[in-house]
Amino acid sequence: MSLCLTKQQPLRYNRTATTDAALHEPRSSSGPGHRPFKAEITGSNPVRGMDGFALLSQDSQPRDGQPPRLRVTGGVAAGYIADHAVEPGSAMRIMTGAPVPPGADTVIQVELTHSDGPESEWVEIMQEIAPGNNIRPAGEDMRRGQTVLLRGTEIGPWEIGILATLGWTHVPVIRRPRVAILGTGDEVIDVHEPLRPGKIRNSNSYLLEAAVRKAGAEPQRLGVARDTVESLREKFSEAIQCDLIITSGGVSVGEFDLVKNIMTEQGEIHFWRINMRPGKPVAFGHIGAVPLLGLPGNPVSAAVTFELFGRPVIRKMLGHTHLLHPQADVAVEDGVSERVMRRHYVRAHVEWRDGRLIARTTGNQGSNIMTSLLNANALLIVPEGGTVIQPGALAKAIMLDWPEG
Ligand code: AMP
Ligand code: MG
Repeated sequence: MSLCLTKQQPLRYNRTATTDAALHEPRSSSGPGHRPFKAEITGSNPVRGMDGFALLSQDSQPRDGQPPRLRVTGGVAAGYIADHAVEPGSAMRIMTGAPVPPGADTVIQVELTHSDGPESEWVEIMQEIAPGNNIRPAGEDMRRGQTVLLRGTEIGPWEIGILATLGWTHVPVIRRPRVAILGTGDEVIDVHEPLRPGKIRNSNSYLLEAAVRKAGAEPQRLGVARDTVESLREKFSEAIQCDLIITSGGVSVGEFDLVKNIMTEQGEIHFWRINMRPGKPVAFGHIGAVPLLGLPGNPVSAAVTFELFGRPVIRKMLGHTHLLHPQADVAVEDGVSERVMRRHYVRAHVEWRDGRLIARTTGNQGSNIMTSLLNANALLIVPEGGTVIQPGALAKAIMLDWPEG
């Protein structure tokens, strides 16, 4: 999950949420909808015990070498409070989760006692115990006023546990960006349609849809634009409803590569083409106020450029500060013999073996070879200039399955 706390963009994070419950700057006073993300310790009984007996620690001292024998005056179950105090020379049965009765300063577990059974009116204390034994003071975990979750924190299961503990039923989070995904090309047909001569299936939009969702955003597939300015204009008029537009194809140098034309017509191009393989034709700009990432059409190029550019953009929009996967030095078992003048991102599988990270490339690295993505959990970075990596030599790898950080 990748919701991040924010104060700017309140969002309902469950069905019952209301925007008026959105939280604002931490305040010292509390009230519905205005409570800070701070620990607030409530409840009149500050301490919780465990299955055993609540007593005064001084009553656990042996007398004449014999275990002390205490009167059992009652019990207190989890969810209830004691109706009387523990007096010197007496004890009360107590369950895990029950508040410690007044008067008692310690709890001994039942295994260290001896009695006549659950109804016994007496208990022998078989071990001397210190004050505070088996007692969890209120506020031990979170103190009143302590900041426990910072803005920008990703809310995962453990954070939700903290929020639930503190009774925070509503918190403002950054809305997941909606990402328009647009295929382009007269040859590209939808996956439901039968293949006809000259046509290929739209793999990119589906691949990108899954990748966008995995990055934490909400994908919206808009189908495929024809290679005409009119068709692209029509699709873009829909796409600008989203927070980010990701296209595939139509950004190369061909006569029908018209995505850049629309960017110039309706916005601007910030950069186009990067000295990399795969993915050279990648473009970035705006259509109106909406950022547009124009990925190349070749499926592997689209996949790799999404990982390198699309995913970090989405993470940034989600409020993350860690945008990139870590890099590691890996020994490339099979080496990379192909000389490529551009920086080469080689798909590889990396595993930990014999105390080292060992990479194996995934075979044919053509940008049309989709199977080169299968089983790839890393991108080896082969520096530009026709570098060869000898079998067993070290290379830097972007570790796609290591979390950004
Ligand atoms: P382009 O950059 O539009 O020239 O596309 C480069 C290559 O990628 C061409 O062979 C296209 O047929 C192919 N391609 C473009 N879009 C897609 C798509 N959505 N799914 C699969 N292949 C595509
Ligand atoms: Mg095309």
